Amino acid sequence: MLRSQQERAKPHAELDHQVEVQPAGLNRKTHRFFDRTNLMLFAGVAAVRTLDYTSTQHFRRLGNKEVLLTNSIVDNKPLFAGIEVAGTALSIGAAYWLHRTGHHKLERWVSIVHIGVGTFGDAHNYSLGPAH
Ligand SMILES: [Zn+2]
Repeated sequence: MLRSQQERAKPHAELDHQVEVQPAGLNRKTHRFFDRTNLMLFAGVAAVRTLDYTSTQHFRRLGNKEVLLTNSIVDNKPLFAGIEVAGTALSIGAAYWLHRTGHHKLERWVSIVHIGVGTFGDAHNYSLGPAH
């Protein structure tokens, strides 16, 4: 009873204004998860993972030993390729979780660090000469 009296007391113009403002306030500024930047970053992550695979095969052919995984894992090509795909998926999954929790800067950094560390490892793998 009291509420309806208050509403009636307000001019109609003011009520209409409140209705218009509310949805805009809920729609905070964000970005789509698969925006241009993330697509480029994920492509970069997939690229360094692919290079990790090829560079590891390269140094194994030269007789060098794998240090992070075991020789038997990296010599099992389907298994090792699956690990590279899982690593890529895990990275994108972590970025998605950060995106959903509103950490949009960290979301980008997951991919940037992954690409940075990956590029370093790939360059190292390709720099290895034949084993002595
Ligand atoms: Zn985001």
